[in-house]
Amino acid sequence: MNIQTNREYQSILKEIEDTKAANKQREDKLVLLLEQSESITNKIDELKTTCEDSEKKLTAESKKVKKATSKLQADKKKIESSREAKTKKVKAKHLKLYEKLRANRNGLAVAGVTKGVCRGCNMNIPPQLFNELLREDDILSCPTCNRMMYHLPEEESDE
Ligand SMILES: [Zn+2]
Repeated sequence: MNIQTNREYQSILKEIEDTKAANKQREDKLVLLLEQSESITNKIDELKTTCEDSEKKLTAESKKVKKATSKLQADKKKIESSREAKTKKVKAKHLKLYEKLRANRNGLAVAGVTKGVCRGCNMNIPPQLFNELLREDDILSCPTCNRMMYHLPEEESDE
C-alpha cells in the first residue's frame, strides 16, 4: 500500500486500532456465548437425566398397575363363576326378588334381624313375624323395607 500523506497514515492507524477493538469485543462476546452454551448444554443433560428417571418410574408403576389389574380381573372372574354356581342353587322366585331388591335397595337385598330389629332399615319386626323368622321355614321379607331377612344373633352382629 502506498501511503501518501501523514494524514492518510494516521487514518489507517486509527482504522487498525478500531478493527482491533472490534475484534476484542467480538472475542469477548464469543466467550460469553460459549459459556452460555455450555451452561445450557449442562441444563439439557440434567433434564435428560430427570426425564429418564421419570420414565423408569413410570414404566415400573405401569407394570405394577397392570399386574394389579390382571389380579383384580382374575379375582372378579372367580367371584362371578362362584356366584353363578351359587345362583343355580337358589329358587328362581327368590333370585328374582333378590335381584329386584338389590337394584332398588342400594345393593343390599338381604338384611340381618337382631333382637327384632331389621338391620337394613333399623325398624322393628312384629313379634309374631320375628318368631316365624326364628323357625327358618321360609324366606321372609321385612314389612318396612321388603328386604329378605335372616336372624342375626346379637353377639355376631357386633363383629
Ligand atoms: Zn327392613
